Amino acid sequence: MEKFSSVLKTTFHLSYAVTRFLRSPFDTPKGSLRNSLWLDCHRKLVTTKAESSNNSWQPGPCLSFSEDERLLKDAVRKISQTFIAPKVRSMDEKGEMDAELFKELFGNGWMGLEIPVEYDGSGLSFTQACIVIEEIAQVDPSTAAAVDVQNTLVNNTLLKWANSKQKEKYLPMLCKDTVGSFCLSEASSGSDAFALKCRATEKDDHFVLEGSKLWITNSMEAGLFVVFANCAPEKGYKGITAFIIQRDTPGFYIAKKEDKLGIRSSSTCELQFQGVKVPKENVLGPVGSGYKIAIESLNEGRIGIAAQMTGLAQGALNIIFPYLHERKQFGKRIGDFQGVQFQYAEAFIELEAARALLYNAARMKDAGFDIKKEAAMAKYLSAQVAERIASRSIDWAGGMGFVKEFGLEKYYRDTKIGHIYEGTDNMQLQTIAKEMQKAYGFDRKSHHM
Ligand SMILES: Cc1cc2nc3c(=O)[nH]c(=O)nc-3n(C[C@H](O)[C@H](O)[C@H](O)COP(=O)(O)OP(=O)(O)OC[C@H]3O[C@@H](n4cnc5c(N)ncnc54)[C@H](O)[C@@H]3O)c2cc1C
Repeated sequence: MEKFSSVLKTTFHLSYAVTRFLRSPFDTPKGSLRNSLWLDCHRKLVTTKAESSNNSWQPGPCLSFSEDERLLKDAVRKISQTFIAPKVRSMDEKGEMDAELFKELFGNGWMGLEIPVEYDGSGLSFTQACIVIEEIAQVDPSTAAAVDVQNTLVNNTLLKWANSKQKEKYLPMLCKDTVGSFCLSEASSGSDAFALKCRATEKDDHFVLEGSKLWITNSMEAGLFVVFANCAPEKGYKGITAFIIQRDTPGFYIAKKEDKLGIRSSSTCELQFQGVKVPKENVLGPVGSGYKIAIESLNEGRIGIAAQMTGLAQGALNIIFPYLHERKQFGKRIGDFQGVQFQYAEAFIELEAARALLYNAARMKDAGFDIKKEAAMAKYLSAQVAERIASRSIDWAGGMGFVKEFGLEKYYRDTKIGHIYEGTDNMQLQTIAKEMQKAYGFDRKSHHM
């Protein structure tokens, strides 16, 4: 087993070595100079040009994966099946992550997917990070939640907004052994996130934080917390500021841990801040820019949730599809009844559509496009599809679908969170509606009534 594990790791690190040098299936012609210098330069070029004009961007099929991306997919799938799958049921029952599993996640470089190699990260693109999250979610959506929050919310927020000193201090930690949490929601501010009540009062060389946060993913295991608090309530949301807080800071407490319907092993806790002194050097981005930081990070985060939900739907189909072709009733395989065939054909269409929105949004993000609408669409559709597919899969399995041993009921429970966190379904629809009004010139700014 040890030998197998090292083979898998080697395969995985090999695939990293390759995937580090590519961005998307459309911009890595075979035989081209694949070195990091070229890549950095290329990445800047793509981003800058895409922002100013779409001419430089070479469109291609979003569901066509390059050879390197397929290698990455296969490696993550094998590792997940070997190391995560055997732990899923007991982690779900206990409602906690296996401590050894986090070591595995860090060891494979999955907790620092997009962090550049110079900070000890895996140096992958956002699309590749989504591939990793999707593959993990096929086996366990809870573990995928932990990996997703670390990468798409915490690491990416630091990558974009931290100054060079903060990057040098925190990014290697996040790649090596430190779990991160993104702390925005409070008891009275969920969908209305920027009505938050957590206060930060400026005093000499530090801020003092008072308040609490609710529903914070990864917080039981986390060592680093990105916390949003308002330091100028009279300015409304323009007073919201982001802070980096370490777990051992006096006055900071991890309070109640939630017992949940789904993604049970991913920890969700309440946090309390009682006179927490945060040095000014721990302010993330400019004071008062917390609103912008949270919105931008959540746009990427939503694509990560789409990856989690798409993986979940695939995971359920991976269990049920072989069963439909083993189980016989009335002398025939269940999968041969036309009534069932039409249903699973529809499920595969929906899954393909969800995956297309996911990778379209991810590749657009990598190419430097605005992804607000695409992220909302991908998250919304994937959550709907995941719930329908997980539910249908239970129906197709009959009694077997209802018992824990078969493994399908957990996928069904795990889908519900896709409709809630990082913006509920209604919030995604609201974003999409506003973007459409803008696109058609009917938003309040352009449509003078
Ligand atoms: C397991 C879990 C993990 C989480 N992890 C994190 C985390 O790591 N960090 C973090 O900051 N937060 C986290 N959250 C919080 C999550 O983002 C919020 O729960 C979510 O944004 C919804 O807020 P709420 O629960 O207060 O619901 P509410 O805002 O109270 O919404 C209740 C219902 O009202 C609807 N609604 C509200 N306003 C409108 C409107 N204007 N129009 C139409 N419908 C509306 C909603 O769609 C929803 O159906 C997590 C939550 C859970 C359950």
